[in-house]
Amino acid sequence: MLDWSDTKPAPLHPAFAPPASDATGLGAIARGAARVTVDEKRMINARADVNQLLPLKYKWAWEKYLSGCNNHWMPTEVSMQADIALWKSRDGLTEDERRMLKRNLGFFAAAESLVANNIVLAIYRHLTNPECRQYLLRQAFEEAVHTHTFQYIVESLGLDEGELFNMYREVPSITDKAAWALKHTQRLDDPAFQTGTPEADQQFLRDLVAFYVVFEGMWFYTGFAQILSLGRRNKMVGIAEQYQYILRDESIHLNFGIDVINQIRHENPHLWTPAFQDEVRSMLKDAAELEAAYGRDTMPRGFLGLNAGLCEQYMHFIANRRCAQLGLASVFAEADNPFPWMSEAMDLKKEKNFFETRVIEYQNGGALTWD
Ligand code: MN
Ligand code: FE
Repeated sequence: MLDWSDTKPAPLHPAFAPPASDATGLGAIARGAARVTVDEKRMINARADVNQLLPLKYKWAWEKYLSGCNNHWMPTEVSMQADIALWKSRDGLTEDERRMLKRNLGFFAAAESLVANNIVLAIYRHLTNPECRQYLLRQAFEEAVHTHTFQYIVESLGLDEGELFNMYREVPSITDKAAWALKHTQRLDDPAFQTGTPEADQQFLRDLVAFYVVFEGMWFYTGFAQILSLGRRNKMVGIAEQYQYILRDESIHLNFGIDVINQIRHENPHLWTPAFQDEVRSMLKDAAELEAAYGRDTMPRGFLGLNAGLCEQYMHFIANRRCAQLGLASVFAEADNPFPWMSEAMDLKKEKNFFETRVIEYQNGGALTWD
């Protein structure tokens, strides 16, 4: 993580500079143009050639790309036998646990796809830096792995695929969250949209906040807590293990998003006005309220160690943390973390037996033969 505590505003970047002539990297080649220098590289509205990874400017983005690659996993490496037995047994799970589990899976199944589409179709086009794009390409693949996880779970447990993949359109507490995030990306989806004015650049920041900070950085966390709390009680341990891998990936996605937003505001201090800061804070507040409603819907009664009230408290704790990471004042009164075990779940290295549960005989590049 970057330390933003001593962030000083950069010299004002010309606020009304026209957008780069070739933000996509697919335009006509500038034959014989001067070579790219580090100083010319920018997060948005870059004038430097976006096809030149080197020289690296944002080492934090490259480091996250390497970390993502080091965390490679596939859902099919996790055995689902115990989960299948428990799911099919008459009283292995309570009706409340089944309801929570199904809605949680339904939320994530669509969310992973929304996040992936947003990266590829909205974010990628406007983030005009090659090392950030390198990370986005890795992240996009990870989102595909996460979507694959839900396909694998549906197939393993024999769940109703139509029910699960339609929940984001049919279950109001899930629809409300997805619709809230989507409204912040719909402008960017317009082929005519381009950054380069303060208004458009702020629109791009809103998309980053909605998807990286709220979707991946807030809502996913209560979702992880729900499933990992089942896992802690030795229920649905295969899914819980997959969620731990997803959580490890998502914590990098979140931190990348925070670094991107902070770097953009560092380079474009004119965008980060007091009014805009208030707007971001109210986005986080709204998001926490939507999550509280989802908590009440997925856990109307609650069960051992988990209920809607604790999830709401957790959301307040997380929302305040995200504010601090963005250099904003808290949105809620100080809240204790009701799930301190979540920080252990995030640090997989502490679990020394963790990797022993993986199937190690999968085929990688080094194992291919060509005869
Ligand atoms: Mn994901
Ligand atoms: Fe993600």
